[in-house]
Amino acid sequence: MAKKHLGQNFLKSKQVIHAMIHAADIQESDIVVEVGPGKGAITAPLLSLAQKVVAFEKDADLIPLLQEKFADYAGFELHEQDILEFDFSGLKDAYKVVANIPYYITGAIIRHFLESSHQPKSMTLLVQKEVADRIVARDGKESILSLSVKVYGVPKIITKVGREYFSPKPDVDSAVIHISDISKSFFKNFTEEQFFTVIKQAFQFKRKNIVNNIKKEFPHIESVLEYVGVDPKTRAEDLGLDDFAQIIQSLYNDS
Ligand code: SAM
Repeated sequence: MAKKHLGQNFLKSKQVIHAMIHAADIQESDIVVEVGPGKGAITAPLLSLAQKVVAFEKDADLIPLLQEKFADYAGFELHEQDILEFDFSGLKDAYKVVANIPYYITGAIIRHFLESSHQPKSMTLLVQKEVADRIVARDGKESILSLSVKVYGVPKIITKVGREYFSPKPDVDSAVIHISDISKSFFKNFTEEQFFTVIKQAFQFKRKNIVNNIKKEFPHIESVLEYVGVDPKTRAEDLGLDDFAQIIQSLYNDS
């Protein structure tokens, strides 16, 4: 029986698995971190291609099945652990993340990896379709989610995946997203903490413009917007990452 509270919707499509592996561009020398191997649908092809697969599974009931299934693979390392409790800074090697993640902690998983001091080279994930659309800002509207991914890497939707490709069938459709070029190079003129402080304030009330959302914390916001050439009536969702970079840099340096 699948455990709903652990987001267990097992993938049953070889094509989708192939699309994920292709997007991740798995090489023989790669070390892959898999979140929630489940019954090993993605783990098996990953093990046949990569040097090593480090898998984190929270459900103790799945551990014996996985151990038995992949007993012959020297490159299989299984942790019975909540992924959010694992500190990747201890991992020496470069790694890629490939996973059909539990949707109830999508945002937390993405943040856990991207904000880590030892970030992955890339992330290839199955996520809820609407979440994928929001991450890439498909409708042209940015959000805390889209900006907090784009500040670290380049997200791209690889393919839409219908709910019929999972068992049990979830109530939502999914999509494969790939995040490449992951780094912290954006944080040259301000810190990660400063970035997130401003972003959270800016998006606090969706209907308010950026000035009204931010002015309590940053009373000089209007002069900053004038300086960087942004209309004070603009809403946060209509500003791109580079606009925010200019605004944040000025907010902290001109105070
Ligand atoms: N990879 C399998 C597949 O594609 O068929 C299973 C994917 S299923 C959507 C998500 C998996 O993540 C489940 O096996 C679930 O037990 C596991 N899981 C849920 N929460 C987790 C957590 N916090 N840390 C690690 N694994 C977790």
